Amino acid sequence: MYVDDTIAAIATPVGCGGIGIIRVSGSDASKIAERVFIKKGNGGLESHRFYYGHIVEPVAGLLIDEGMAVLMLAPRSYTREDVLELHCHGGFLLVQQVLDACLRAGARLSEPGEFTRRAFLNGRIDLCQAESIIDLINSRTEMSLSFAQSQREGALSARLGFITASLRNALALIEAFIDFPEEDLDSASLGRIDFLVAQSREALTVLRNSFDHGKVIREGISVLMAGKPNVGKSSLLNALTLEQRAIVSHIPGTTRDVIEEIINIDGLPVRIIDSAGIRHSQDEIEQEGIRRALEQLVLADLVLFMVDGSRPIDSQDCSLLTAISGKRIITVVNKCDLPLLLDEKELPDGVPTVHISSKNGSGLSQLRSAIFKIFVNEQVTSQDHIAITTVRHKDIVVRAIECLDRFSGQMGVGVSGELLAIDLRECLAAIGEITGETTPDAILDIIFSSFCIGK
Ligand code: GDP
Repeated sequence: MYVDDTIAAIATPVGCGGIGIIRVSGSDASKIAERVFIKKGNGGLESHRFYYGHIVEPVAGLLIDEGMAVLMLAPRSYTREDVLELHCHGGFLLVQQVLDACLRAGARLSEPGEFTRRAFLNGRIDLCQAESIIDLINSRTEMSLSFAQSQREGALSARLGFITASLRNALALIEAFIDFPEEDLDSASLGRIDFLVAQSREALTVLRNSFDHGKVIREGISVLMAGKPNVGKSSLLNALTLEQRAIVSHIPGTTRDVIEEIINIDGLPVRIIDSAGIRHSQDEIEQEGIRRALEQLVLADLVLFMVDGSRPIDSQDCSLLTAISGKRIITVVNKCDLPLLLDEKELPDGVPTVHISSKNGSGLSQLRSAIFKIFVNEQVTSQDHIAITTVRHKDIVVRAIECLDRFSGQMGVGVSGELLAIDLRECLAAIGEITGETTPDAILDIIFSSFCIGK
């Protein structure tokens, strides 16, 4: 539902900063500018020009701050409405006072994501472009940023547009046949429909298959380091992050809590989790650490099974290996700067193995690339950066493919045109939920509520 009033919010993060920006959008933006901003010299604010002046409280005209103002008249603005931005000094109270001035001058405090929702409702961007803006803001690596940027620029929308156009063509052929039921669908039309549907199904399948990688690129992966005490887990975490966060010590079992760092492997965000060795212990604090480690084990996308290469494999290593069986594993043989006393034949079969030294750094780049290769396939990175990254999108694409499968099954047994059209229309409606054409309001509420206020 579109409400045609004027909204305002603080657009910059809360806290101390060089500047703070208050954004106002709606038909009263110009009037509010006149009441809260006094520019130097005569005349009003021209669109898309920056002005220096005083920001004032609208009732008594008391000075709040000196600052800058820019008015962006519709439709050349983020929301396609009249937008006013007031730039003042950063700081908790000051930006709040400027916001209050705008509210007293007639604006309403915006809901989370309401500016972007207006941009969507006014047709400036479609829903998947709007959703990509959250990803842009949350991106921590170049790769996730470039996928989010390509989605914002409309790459996914264009791919969906291509699929939608093909299916509408197929539907038009079937509808023509429904209108003239006395004539059978000729073989040329049948062939054309088959081709269009198969082509759409293929494109949807590529999107469906992009999800696993898309999710990895968007959210990153979590990697749990599992190894008995003293194999060098904390040292590896330190070596990978180049920061001395975990305490390195000779006493077994000193890493009592779960410690994690996010590292960037060629653009992939990787959460490396160091935990208490998964082992039996009488110590209460350590038991808690072990409990948390087991919790992390369930969630981890990958486990680094760490062993000390300078010692033979023992029963503790073996029981740990049993505990992590069923997970995706890389065996990491640490301390390769020391003579190798471990019998490699005892290492798990069919699992990539990397020899490293956390002490001198050897093997770390091989470890990074072993992690990367498991999760990122080269096709995805070299492609045009179109991937489905949210579960919502994936579920819709799966539903759309099911509609087409039903359609093809019914085509094969000569079902009536009306019934065939139902499946195609359902498929088109499903795709429309991604772009926003057919998304129910309740879903829009959920999507936009995950935005911050002021976005
Ligand atoms: P954790 O209990 O698995 O976290 O092991 P730590 O990282 O605390 O390391 C235990 C001991 O092994 C420390 O004395 C480290 O200096 C030492 N250590 C860790 N990695 C290496 C390595 O690659 N080579 C050698 N020689 N010593 C290491």
